[in-house]
Amino acid sequence: MTLSQTMAARDFEQVVVCRDPNSGLESVIAVHDTTLGPSLGGIRMRAYPSQDAALADALDLAEAMTYKAALAGLELGGGKSVINADPTSPHRRELLAAHARYIAGLGGRYIPAVDMGTSPEDLELVGHYVPTVASQRRDPSYFTARGVVASIRAALGLTSATGLRDAHVAVQGLGHVGRHVVALLAEEGARLTVGDIDAARVREVRDRFGATAVPADEVLITDADVVCPCAGGAAITEPVLDRLKARYVIGAANNVLADQSLAGGLMQRGIVHVPDFVANAGGLIACEAELRGDDSGVLDRVDGIGDTAVAILSRAQATHTDSVSVALELARTRLASRRPGRPWFPSAS
Ligand code: NAD
Repeated sequence: MTLSQTMAARDFEQVVVCRDPNSGLESVIAVHDTTLGPSLGGIRMRAYPSQDAALADALDLAEAMTYKAALAGLELGGGKSVINADPTSPHRRELLAAHARYIAGLGGRYIPAVDMGTSPEDLELVGHYVPTVASQRRDPSYFTARGVVASIRAALGLTSATGLRDAHVAVQGLGHVGRHVVALLAEEGARLTVGDIDAARVREVRDRFGATAVPADEVLITDADVVCPCAGGAAITEPVLDRLKARYVIGAANNVLADQSLAGGLMQRGIVHVPDFVANAGGLIACEAELRGDDSGVLDRVDGIGDTAVAILSRAQATHTDSVSVALELARTRLASRRPGRPWFPSAS
């Protein structure tokens, strides 16, 4: 499929493929849908095998942002950008600056935030070129983790008063979000199993929270109540699905299912799955509050992700439909109720 065919098939508004020979930048900015407002999404920096792989990732991530914002009740559209480079590159500042100039060219239709491979300091640099930047003042990961934990609690049918004591949760990935997830679960007395490809992170979490460490490629098949993927996307593949022992899959990792059809596979096996774009919306809620300069009620709204998760799971059960399809339908219904209304452009002053 050509890019324009993909854009038509998946209803993308704008995709910018960037190449700056001076800095060596290769990047993509994808704006999926601005029905609800300007698109917001992180800048991911990662060494992809090719620029086509970077493009494919940007498209998947941007589309998920549209549904995430819609289900979180935010007046934001879905977008994402990726820089095809190793985050440890000595030229990262030049690459970020070059990428930021391309973002500035979109005139506010894409608001950048942090993502894997970028930090609030990077966003400060981007802010020199782009007037509106999210997650410059704070890392949204705590809020993301809090929403994931609220989803786990809600899916298990617990209230925050009952807590997660006695639950066994296996967390894959101990980075920004995973470490907060572990800390929040430990506070509630959950039993923890953890795994990461970074041995130092595993040691730190094991020693600090008394978690059981397992090899990174085994954590998702732990015999736990819940597996919580907080590393990269496509963690749940067909072979992993066949070996899953947990009854719940709820985590932060974006696009965690290698293929959307796996949502049906999870349902058939009776495994409860809160879609990633529902469970991990806490960071986006915090970014939106930061942009408005009003943090009031932000924690309640993040905890409210648990109610959204329950509504989706209940509907999925009642209609014998997988939870991803139910969540997508709800998100698309909200978008349809606001059309015509796209594309969003800043009002002329
Ligand atoms: P991060 O880069 O800080 O952490 C990722 C961790 O996963 C690292 O410790 C890494 O070593 C580990 N890892 C990588 N591959 C692994 C593997 N195969 N097995 C086990 N561990 C592995 O990223 P993050 O910010 O914590 O984000 C984690 C996930 O959550 C990503 O998919 C991200 O897109 C998603 N997410 C993050 C946020 C946020 O607020 N940071 C918001 C929404 C979604």
